[in-house]
Amino acid sequence: MDFSLDETQRLLVRTATELAEAEFAEKAFTWEGEFPWENLESLADRGLLGIALDEAYGGGGMTPVEVLLVQEAIGRVCPDTAHIISRSSMGAPRAIDELGTPTLKERYLPSICGGDSIMSIAISEAHAGSDAAAMSTTATIEDDEVIVEGQKHWVTKPEVADAFLVYARFPDGIGALVIEASDAGFELERTDVNMAGHHQGTLRFDDCRVPVDRILIRGEDALVTLLKTFNVERCHNAMMCVSVARNAFERSLEYAYDREQFGRPIGEFQVIEHKLADMAISIETARLAVLYAAETVNEGSGWNDRAQTSIAKVYANEIGEQVLTDAMQIFGANGYMQGHPIEYMYRLVRGWKIAGGTVEIQRNGIASVLAKHGYR
Ligand SMILES: Cc1cc2nc3c(=O)[nH]c(=O)nc-3n(C[C@H](O)[C@H](O)[C@H](O)COP(=O)(O)OP(=O)(O)OC[C@H]3O[C@@H](n4cnc5c(N)ncnc54)[C@H](O)[C@@H]3O)c2cc1C
Repeated sequence: MDFSLDETQRLLVRTATELAEAEFAEKAFTWEGEFPWENLESLADRGLLGIALDEAYGGGGMTPVEVLLVQEAIGRVCPDTAHIISRSSMGAPRAIDELGTPTLKERYLPSICGGDSIMSIAISEAHAGSDAAAMSTTATIEDDEVIVEGQKHWVTKPEVADAFLVYARFPDGIGALVIEASDAGFELERTDVNMAGHHQGTLRFDDCRVPVDRILIRGEDALVTLLKTFNVERCHNAMMCVSVARNAFERSLEYAYDREQFGRPIGEFQVIEHKLADMAISIETARLAVLYAAETVNEGSGWNDRAQTSIAKVYANEIGEQVLTDAMQIFGANGYMQGHPIEYMYRLVRGWKIAGGTVEIQRNGIASVLAKHGYR
């Protein structure tokens, strides 16, 4: 597999890096509990929203690897802004791009690509987290309306979303439909604050009626089809860990040769040198695993996508946490103080090991592919 970049891709990475350094660096790590609206606007102006989506609907038509390279370039500088990139191309927008009718695509994708609207995904429930198939939110059809009843939990930054892709139990199985924040019967019931200081919401649907053309997919096989769109999603979660780890590593390297104790830079103590070497090894390896997994998704190799994206997610989630732990150790008390970038990233990276399917559930998925198909 060849990861060498062509001239256009090199230019793309350079443009994203320059933009991030010029416009996102200064306020990076200050977005706790807030949404970087000004950065969303900059991304929209440069055509960097919805870059994975169909060009016919305002998207960039980029391959998964290209989208990840942009996300990485921006995530190294400002993870909260990189999250906007993935949120505009992955999750709900991607599912609509892949599975939606022209009506749904026309209604939602151009405004997402233009930075005029944001869509969240609502799958988890109080009693159905890893076991999403146990969800109890229902969608029943009466004439030309769908009536949704139930509750969804842990929805990321719900206060900024104009619409939600809601997974629900139809009479013929679990499917998905779009509910807009302005729909009657929809309520953002409660907002919790996670360890990274970001909001996660509880949505309530109480006799929430929407037209049937809001249904994205339903039927016996709908859940399996929806979950397949999640393969590439795992790469984005993983790349967030890689880029944050890289930021922490670069800071640690500089600090280790600047900070002196016992009359010499702490980077000259072998125990610190080895930490730095281990950080570099794990970041390089995770990065390659993520790009390789994204390429398998692009090639549509079938079951191997499932295994490779899970392998990449588990590895990147775990090294992300380890690199941030090591970085905090290198920075000592400085890195432990509230508001320090290391402290910020330490809290941020932890959530990705749970979000998008826990590492335990990924291991279950890898094991079931191995049991069924063997090793590629
Ligand atoms: C930062 C963040 C953002 C999120 N954003 C969203 C969002 O936008 N939309 C949304 O719908 N949800 C979102 N979630 C929810 C997320 O999808 C769930 O937290 C996740 O699926 C796990 O569910 P749970 O938290 O209920 O844990 P549980 O499923 O209760 O699991 C608890 C523990 O048991 C383990 N476990 C469970 N079953 C098994 C098993 N079969 N084998 C081995 N171990 C098992 C898990 O791995 C975990 O360690 C988000 C979560 C986080 C942390």
